[in-house]
Amino acid sequence: MVEPKQEVLPSGEAANPYVTALTQFDAVADYLGLNESMRQYLRSNRRELIVRLPVRMDDGSIAVFWGCRVQHNWARGPSKGGIRYHPAVNLDEVRALAMWMTWKCAVVNIPYGGGKGGVKVNHKKLSPRELEALTRRYAVAISPVIGPDVDVPAPDVGTDAQTMAWIMDAYGATQGRWTPAVVTGKPISLGGTVGREAATGSGIMYVVQEAARRHRLSPDGTTVAIQGFGNAGQWSARLLAGQGYRVVAVSDTSGAIHNGHGLDVEAAIAQKISSGRVTDYPKADRITNEDLLTLPVDILVPAAFENQITGANAPAVKAKIVVEAANGPTTPEADRMLKDSGVLVIPDILASAGGVVVSYFEWVQDRSGIFWDEKEVSNRLEQVMTKAFQEVAAVSEREKLTMREAALILGIRRVVEAAELRGMRL
Ligand code: NAD
Repeated sequence: MVEPKQEVLPSGEAANPYVTALTQFDAVADYLGLNESMRQYLRSNRRELIVRLPVRMDDGSIAVFWGCRVQHNWARGPSKGGIRYHPAVNLDEVRALAMWMTWKCAVVNIPYGGGKGGVKVNHKKLSPRELEALTRRYAVAISPVIGPDVDVPAPDVGTDAQTMAWIMDAYGATQGRWTPAVVTGKPISLGGTVGREAATGSGIMYVVQEAARRHRLSPDGTTVAIQGFGNAGQWSARLLAGQGYRVVAVSDTSGAIHNGHGLDVEAAIAQKISSGRVTDYPKADRITNEDLLTLPVDILVPAAFENQITGANAPAVKAKIVVEAANGPTTPEADRMLKDSGVLVIPDILASAGGVVVSYFEWVQDRSGIFWDEKEVSNRLEQVMTKAFQEVAAVSEREKLTMREAALILGIRRVVEAAELRGMRL
């Protein structure tokens, strides 16, 4: 296990997200005065499963892929968290994401612990048949440790509703029964919920609205830049533009586009869908992803990956508010710099919780067999996100802490309380 000694990495060097997650936890454990046993319990993962996945490729060869599923904590309920398909995914990244899921579910007060999974693969290079075969292999391999009351996967980077449909089907075959609540983020016709696809972006919109209200920003005078243009980035852009915010820049791995008058977000999404590169959108200037992060905008939404705002670029960030749609986009060093320069950071474990909240709604609907309409889903999501924002802001104001510190404290306190009630009290 990585120890949090290397907390401050030289500027520009990619931080290990698990070191970041453990460092954050240790600071809160000190603040809360947690005893050694509780620290040890909350620093460790309940379960880590590594799997090797042999898949017959279209050329007849067999390729063996690496995958894992990590369950961090079950104190408040079954573990919940996405599955990431990415060539660089690794155990420490998944461990970090699983731990953040535990705190995130507790911050928004839904009855889950945290989990996460990953498969090391460039999914864009597989044919649809290869992708389906790999996903079914992975689903069967992790089937002994998942289930509606055990661990409930969902989409993350590189996976989507189709991936969840294959997992549900393969898992159901291992159990011999209809088990839609084993995954969330499914297609609606298989027990998915309305509003899940937009959920992370909707959550971002609700926290932006709450932050804007408190900082007296009106949508029409507020500019937004968004890094990453997948599920989280596109829906954040679409919904914020729909509220009247001026989205001036977005990006994907091909680079960034900028138009100070505001982008036509729907046209940019259509471009991304048709050519796969947002930079093919014609009515904007091409800039780099690095330029996007330091644009003079009011709100910056990192919606791509970990470690994007680092010690190297944080001093140049000009946004007044950073709203973390991605998990772990800011290193601890950058976090301190942003705090010192007065930038309000709305942390991932609050800002990006919309996805898991609507996943929880999906799980509830699957288990009850009664399905809600769009209005009910969005009203309930707004209620949960606004309440969580207000609770985090109250801790932040009362205890003179950043929103990240306050969110971690609120989440970790809730997990500690559940663990103690279950018998972890010394
Ligand atoms: P996605 O695969 O749909 O999209 C990722 C996007 O980021 C793509 O457009 C990709 O081109 C872009 N990208 C990758 N590297 C980049 C870089 N260096 N600079 C700019 N763009 C880059 O993934 P997603 O589901 O939107 O997830 C994005 C982030 O949001 C992840 O951190 C994920 O964990 C987090 N998140 C997602 C959800 C969800 O429901 N999808 C929920 C909570 C948090």
